[in-house]
Amino acid sequence: MNSSSSGFLEIWSSIMTFGGIAIIAAGILYYFLYFFRVSIIPDFKSKYDFINTSEIVWFKRVFLIIAVGIGFLINTYASKTIDQMGAWFFVRFFFGIAGATIIAYVAALILDNWYPTKINSKLRKWRYMPRINAKTGNKMKLLSEDEEDVHLDAGMIAEENVFSIDYDVWIDESSKEIKIEKYSGHLIALRCNNCGFFTMKVVKEEIVEKYEDGSPKELLKNYQCSYCKNKRATQFTISTREAEDYKNVKPKSTKSPRSIELVKIEIAAGHKGNKFYEFQSIEDAQRFLEEFDFDKLS
Ligand SMILES: [Zn+2]
Repeated sequence: MNSSSSGFLEIWSSIMTFGGIAIIAAGILYYFLYFFRVSIIPDFKSKYDFINTSEIVWFKRVFLIIAVGIGFLINTYASKTIDQMGAWFFVRFFFGIAGATIIAYVAALILDNWYPTKINSKLRKWRYMPRINAKTGNKMKLLSEDEEDVHLDAGMIAEENVFSIDYDVWIDESSKEIKIEKYSGHLIALRCNNCGFFTMKVVKEEIVEKYEDGSPKELLKNYQCSYCKNKRATQFTISTREAEDYKNVKPKSTKSPRSIELVKIEIAAGHKGNKFYEFQSIEDAQRFLEEFDFDKLS
């Protein structure tokens, strides 16, 4: 009985040692595979989309694999000194599972809350990196957003199509060719002014103003931080321009530089508390102040 239990312990110990090392190595390999996967995407916009939707999920898997490997290694603890089967074996087994769970859980927390800050600067890099016109080889220019680019195509007046879509219009100044890229606002996380993490996401959108023909004019996006639950709302003007209209637009130097990410107005409203309003450009903020009516403040 004793010899068979120590035989089992020996086999167990070597499975845990080599299995653990192999699993951790696989996790590290899987981590590097991600960068290879990104590097073979030729198009900047596709890179952006892939990083936006996959990076955090992928890295969570990396940590999960490594956590399982560490769980294996925990099960080799003291295997040289104890050769008798006993309750300690199950206690150690439990610690292996608990250790792996804690590592995977903490990694997921960090990836969900702190990591989006890092990913955001990566995403900005790919979003604003000058596009190259494949036909001419020319560098394209990104049009300014003094008319907000929530909406571009007149065929898409259905309200649900308006929601949470941002468009970037790139133009080849010599050939007048345009390239339109669509960004889904629901996926893009913005910086939360309360906690500083990039965990602010669109939770609700509503049309607050319409043109006379009933097509949407002003869109209010309601954001909430998934980390500290802070809320904010930003208003956008919906453009009625179509893609073709941009061919006749003379690219002008950007009035609101892209370095201005946000204009924030705080109104201290006594018993109603402090209200925050945020705008994407100085022009929007000015218009808001002109139309602002204290009595309508809810
Ligand atoms: Zn926050």
